[in-house]
Amino acid sequence: MSTDHIFQKYCRGATSTAIFGEIICQKLKEAVEQSVYKKTARDLTDEMRSNCESLNGNRSNLEKHILKFLAENENFSAYMDYINYPRDHVKDFISDEVSRYITDTFSHNILPKLKENIELLHQTIAKAAHESIEHVQVNSGDAGLWLKSFTQQLSDELIFSEKDLSGVKHDDVDDFKLLEDVIRKELPDIMSDISSELKTEKLDPKFRPDELLIDHFCQCCWVQCPFCGAICTNTIENHDGDHSVPFHRLDGVNGYYYDDTKHFGIDFCSSVVVSKKSFKSSGQWFPYTEYRRAGGVYAKWSITPDLSDLPYWKWFVCRFQRDLEKYYGKSFQGKGEIPEYWTKYTKEHGIKKRETMKKILKQQNLKQQRLREQIMKTLSMKRANSLP
Ligand SMILES: [Zn+2]
Ligand SMILES: [Zn+2]
Repeated sequence: MSTDHIFQKYCRGATSTAIFGEIICQKLKEAVEQSVYKKTARDLTDEMRSNCESLNGNRSNLEKHILKFLAENENFSAYMDYINYPRDHVKDFISDEVSRYITDTFSHNILPKLKENIELLHQTIAKAAHESIEHVQVNSGDAGLWLKSFTQQLSDELIFSEKDLSGVKHDDVDDFKLLEDVIRKELPDIMSDISSELKTEKLDPKFRPDELLIDHFCQCCWVQCPFCGAICTNTIENHDGDHSVPFHRLDGVNGYYYDDTKHFGIDFCSSVVVSKKSFKSSGQWFPYTEYRRAGGVYAKWSITPDLSDLPYWKWFVCRFQRDLEKYYGKSFQGKGEIPEYWTKYTKEHGIKKRETMKKILKQQNLKQQRLREQIMKTLSMKRANSLP
């Protein structure tokens, strides 16, 4: 409704009070819409953080789901996107999860939520209009005071201030009872206008939970292992201490190959660091056992030797052997020949093994932690006993 239209409507016996009331309602529409979508985005974020399996843990858990999803879809270019641009890939994965969730739950979950939030705001606005009249009466104030009180009461819920009504005359507004009546009468129409526009499942990206979830999962360390490209799992960006990851990948996945040949490497970082092999960095050779000497990012990684070479990546190189060879212009030959028994691994086995290994590693870490605590306790007891 335009201001002209409002003026015509009240032309006969029009009062500036009524016009003022209608303009307030029109201006509130956008603020209500924004607030409702924002609040719903926050609610949805919390909901997805507990209901979606991929989003109910930390980034390591999310990565587990991404690897599972990639294996299920067997799409090579999606894999390379994840390997080369992990942060962007994770962001896109989160947005896709949000889209899926919105489509699946829009009518029975999101729509009722949006409507409930609209109704709550409706009540808040009506209450603020009424209480502001009392405030004006107690203080013998004018329309300026009414507006101040009204916008202040809404400031926690809406982005709406006196500035939004600058230029709207209200010097001769003095019938506050009429003002409240107009607002009470107009509000339901405004609210149902907003409700009827909620048909679409495609919520404006600004008001979807994507950003909140991406902030939650992506503000962490993204440094990749210089050999295999696995991402450090530390949850703090620019953290102190070394980068580390429980599971390294096969170095060939990251394009590693034997010098002077075109043969891929098929070593896992966690086993190659105790081998007699060497690698070249900036034209210089370094033994893997002293990989930190290569400086730079090498010096900042802690690669624990273990036998956690996952069948997942063995399955991956078997499944995408030709694609990897074409992509990197190298081949799985010579020292990089894929062992026959690797071809027996299935992706289901790879996914399952990764999960059981993770549990084992977690238990080992717990045991080590308990042992450390016990040693510290014994030491401090000894120290206490030896005090004079
Ligand atoms: Zn690695
Ligand atoms: Zn790190």
